[in-house]
Amino acid sequence: MSKQFAVIGMGRFGSSVARALYEMDYEVMGIDENEEVINEHINYVTHAVAADSTDERALREIGIRNFDVVVVAIGADIQASILTVLILKEMGVKKIVAKAQNERHGQVLYKVGADRVVFPERDMGKRVAHNLISASVLDFIELAEDYSVAEVVVSHGMVGKTLREIDVRAKYGVNVIAIKSGEKFNIAPQPDESIHANDVLVVIGNNKNLKEFEKYA
Ligand code: ADP
Repeated sequence: MSKQFAVIGMGRFGSSVARALYEMDYEVMGIDENEEVINEHINYVTHAVAADSTDERALREIGIRNFDVVVVAIGADIQASILTVLILKEMGVKKIVAKAQNERHGQVLYKVGADRVVFPERDMGKRVAHNLISASVLDFIELAEDYSVAEVVVSHGMVGKTLREIDVRAKYGVNVIAIKSGEKFNIAPQPDESIHANDVLVVIGNNKNLKEFEKYA
């Protein structure tokens, strides 16, 4: 049986998570206290229920414990978000993922039992900033506090050379994990792979090294 998900709070973030899961053929229940919001998203989830997630009895009636993952996507109402996570934890929900508005909110969510906290605005802000600083950086995803993956368009200086020749591992301490060449996506590039104009390198490394590499690229 595939995983079953519940998303509490069908605002911009929650509805986007729910819809993406639904489009990947997972069972998703969307929960929101606002009936209008529920009606808006009824076609993009398996089930849609109007309920207040700070009401433990309502959550029990829904059978929230049976879901493999519950995403708490309540944003603005921080109190409701914290209380919901606390109740879910006490009810024995297996995995709770919660959205935080800021660092402080995130800390509290972990304390009351969230297994994972996401910061969509902060993370997206960082991605956009990297993209703004350097036209060659197409995307940037933080993996851990110090490590990231970046998609970087190759510079003129790299074109015609092989991965061995540009030797970014020795020079910058970053690893090329894939090369995008037009429609082609080579996910295990060999050292003798040569680089073409407009190729995009997907590189992984620590943030300091990536920064140096982005300047070079
Ligand atoms: P976003 O920034 O992702 O749009 P919002 O905070 O604007 O997030 O939206 C959160 C959604 O959560 C709203 O649709 C709101 O009705 C819903 N919501 C807020 N509190 C509760 C609650 N206690 N139970 C269920 N849904 C809630």
